[in-house]
Amino acid sequence: MKKLISKITGDPQTRALKRLTKRVPQINELESKYKKMTDDQLRESIDVFHEKASKGADLDTLLPDVFAIVRETSKRILGQRHYDVQLIGGMALHAGTVAEMRTGEGKTLVATLPLVLNGLTDKGAHLVTVNDYLAQRDAGWNAGIYHFLGLSTGVIIPSGSFIYDPEYTNEEHEDDRFRHLKPCTRSEAYGAHITYGTNNEFGFDYLRDNMSKSKSQLRQRPLNYAIVDEVDSILIDEARTPLIISAPASESNDQYIVFSKAVKKLTPDDYELDEKRRSVAVNDQGIEKIEKLLKIDNIYDAQNVQSVYHLEQALKAELVFKKDKDYVVRDGEVVIVDEFTGRVMEGRRYSEGLHQAIEAKENVAVLQESMTLATISFQNYFRLYDKLSGMTGTANTEAEEFYTIYKLDVVVIPTNKPVIRDDHPDRIYKSEMAKFRAVAKDAKEKIEAGRAVLIGTVSVEKNELMSTLLTQEGIKHELLNAKNHEREAAIVEAAGKSGAVTLATNIAGRGTDIKLSDEVKEAGGLHVIGTERHESRRIDNQLRGRGGRQGDPGSTRFYVSADDDLMRIFGGDRVASLMSRTGLDDETPIENRVVSRALEGAQKKVENFHFDSRKDVVSYDDVMNRQRKAIYARRRLLLEQDDIHSEIDDLIKEEVSTLGDDIKSGVDTKDVIAEAKTIFPISPRQEKQLKESSDFSEVLLKIAHEDYAAREERFTPEIMRLVEREIYMSILDDLWMQHLENMDHMRQGIKWRSVGQRDPLVEYRREAKVLYESLLAALRTTVVKMLYRAEPRVQESDVLETALTRAAEQSSEGSADVDGAPSKTKQKRSARAEKTPSPVKPSTKAKKKTKKKQRQNRKKSRK
Ligand code: ADP
Ligand code: MG
Repeated sequence: MKKLISKITGDPQTRALKRLTKRVPQINELESKYKKMTDDQLRESIDVFHEKASKGADLDTLLPDVFAIVRETSKRILGQRHYDVQLIGGMALHAGTVAEMRTGEGKTLVATLPLVLNGLTDKGAHLVTVNDYLAQRDAGWNAGIYHFLGLSTGVIIPSGSFIYDPEYTNEEHEDDRFRHLKPCTRSEAYGAHITYGTNNEFGFDYLRDNMSKSKSQLRQRPLNYAIVDEVDSILIDEARTPLIISAPASESNDQYIVFSKAVKKLTPDDYELDEKRRSVAVNDQGIEKIEKLLKIDNIYDAQNVQSVYHLEQALKAELVFKKDKDYVVRDGEVVIVDEFTGRVMEGRRYSEGLHQAIEAKENVAVLQESMTLATISFQNYFRLYDKLSGMTGTANTEAEEFYTIYKLDVVVIPTNKPVIRDDHPDRIYKSEMAKFRAVAKDAKEKIEAGRAVLIGTVSVEKNELMSTLLTQEGIKHELLNAKNHEREAAIVEAAGKSGAVTLATNIAGRGTDIKLSDEVKEAGGLHVIGTERHESRRIDNQLRGRGGRQGDPGSTRFYVSADDDLMRIFGGDRVASLMSRTGLDDETPIENRVVSRALEGAQKKVENFHFDSRKDVVSYDDVMNRQRKAIYARRRLLLEQDDIHSEIDDLIKEEVSTLGDDIKSGVDTKDVIAEAKTIFPISPRQEKQLKESSDFSEVLLKIAHEDYAAREERFTPEIMRLVEREIYMSILDDLWMQHLENMDHMRQGIKWRSVGQRDPLVEYRREAKVLYESLLAALRTTVVKMLYRAEPRVQESDVLETALTRAAEQSSEGSADVDGAPSKTKQKRSARAEKTPSPVKPSTKAKKKTKKKQRQNRKKSRK
């Protein structure tokens, strides 16, 4: 169907390319105008466009002039004039599409065009790289152009933040591209017109910003425009490992025990227990006892938020949850009993710390769990940009995925010079050893002929195996396996010399290209050898694409054996019988189109499997994403407003009306008043008013407002405003963190329950909604409760301290805060990807593990 449509209307890709190509003459015509200008004139020529763009002019109308100016500037600064195809690539990036441009086509330079054009808006333009080395290299490479045009360049990497400054020189670097990057604050680097950085750091900073306690700590501006370099690697290969910031929860584990012991000392006078609704809340007398026991001044102070949770969970564990009814204790573990079926539910845990509280109550080990503070997937981070684009040598095989998940079209940009590389058909061997020997022989022949050889392997293990074999054959070679990018770049630089053999895993060396010496060019260029077909054709193409750059001569060949995973599992019987029918010895390969085609079919099958599972991840993540957006938006509001009292008042009103609704639905007034008393400080006189009232909500709201006004009188409105924000934000953060854990547990739980006919995603959505609603309810109740009990002491209060810290932070903005991650937290990429079995190694990955082991694994993967 798709094919039919494109036959009638023309292939959409071709049409897009035509549309872009049409604008090239326009830019070329402007060349003579800018060429004639002096440096100063050229420099100033951008100003009028800068002015227009910053005022919101349509960038498309400015494009021809801006591209022409950048091209002329690049010629003067770098001695490189953008080729016409590079202009096309630049337009594709500006249009928010993925530009497929082969290795060596100069994508780094291509990006300068849309980065300047979009940087002129003053809203920020980001270039996302796969590693720190490339972020610094590419920023330093092109910053001269931006500087000339009055635009600043920032760099964001894990070890620091930098701003390009030609006056500054870092003597430690020999490479000039790295020498002029001056350390600066995170927000300065983000405040630059153009910012280079790694995918991880951009994502982590987004999460950190949403954990910030004050406006002044914010790093990023609203996300405007991004170009993702090596976009397939970032948005597809790494898409299944979300970013996670986590903190060890070890300290609070002791707290479970402390509180468990404390609540055992309470008597029924100290709390309101409602067995029907399975709820319990301490009253003032109980609070006093606890405070005395634990030597806390006021448990409702903002810094004691954790204690309030611990107290509530400990009470629930002690009084509501019953051993051998709700749960059993078995082998030192608390196991939940399903209330309807009475069956034990292996592996499930109560959420929000209740499980730990029960473990403390039962004197068994309290399971340590690291707390997820914040998490986001790359998909969802990059979808936050107003405009997103990408570039890579290999995207077209994944065009459907780019479109379905990111709504990104792929445009294949023609090469500057025709490709004359010779791609040979695969050679197929009976055994892996025979294959490796053949590879070594091939490499030897080529270097003897004065050429250079690049050998690609699919894994570090195979890389080492191949290395041993090459050594045995007396072939000198360099190993590349993506550990040290700086050294990697140096190796790659030497890889184009005559006689060089470089052995690389397929992830190594992305972004660096192999330039050939004249001797090698004359001898036939680089010979690329693949030692196995990868699961994805894209990765094979990436390897092939290393050869024959910019019209260079070159050749490629893949070696395959019947032992290879892809062959074994997907090659099918056809290949096997073909192999045996040929009846040849080990050393003689077959070169057969049928087998090659079968392999490509197998690759497509595996690609589809991975695509489907990534789509699955996205569907699950979408649920969380909506919640995260809502919570982060609420948080941003709290952060950016100086006075959040109207937000607080909304919470009070909602709380009051929820209680009022209870009355309307027939709950005994006495019970509702008892509950109200755990939230609002209600005096005996007010209690009487409530009992006698005809409109419960109205009277309660009046009481609540009176009390609030009295508190404001006592502590001054200024202090109350600070307390409000402090309390609302810390509770929001805390509950959100707990919610992340809950969602995770819930998702695990859905996996445990083999749900028969039910669609797990539907189940997940439904339960996620329930959890989210209870998060909002808990947020409201806890904030209100705490606000009516907080006792800010003007003299030595934390609130005052907070105010002081906030003031101090604002003044220390100039210091070289390079990171700003909260202490004790860890950033990492979770290994969730490993949880889904890969179709290629079903035997090892689908192994059945005990539940305990899985839990341990989960914990491990979080460390
Ligand atoms: P890619 O990322 O597309 O693989 P790079 O951006 O690393 O390629 O560029 C490859 C090489 O080509 C670099 O050395 C770069 O300086 C050079 N190059 C790019 N564009 C031009 C140009 N227009 N004129 C001259 N050299 C160029
Ligand atoms: Mg590149």
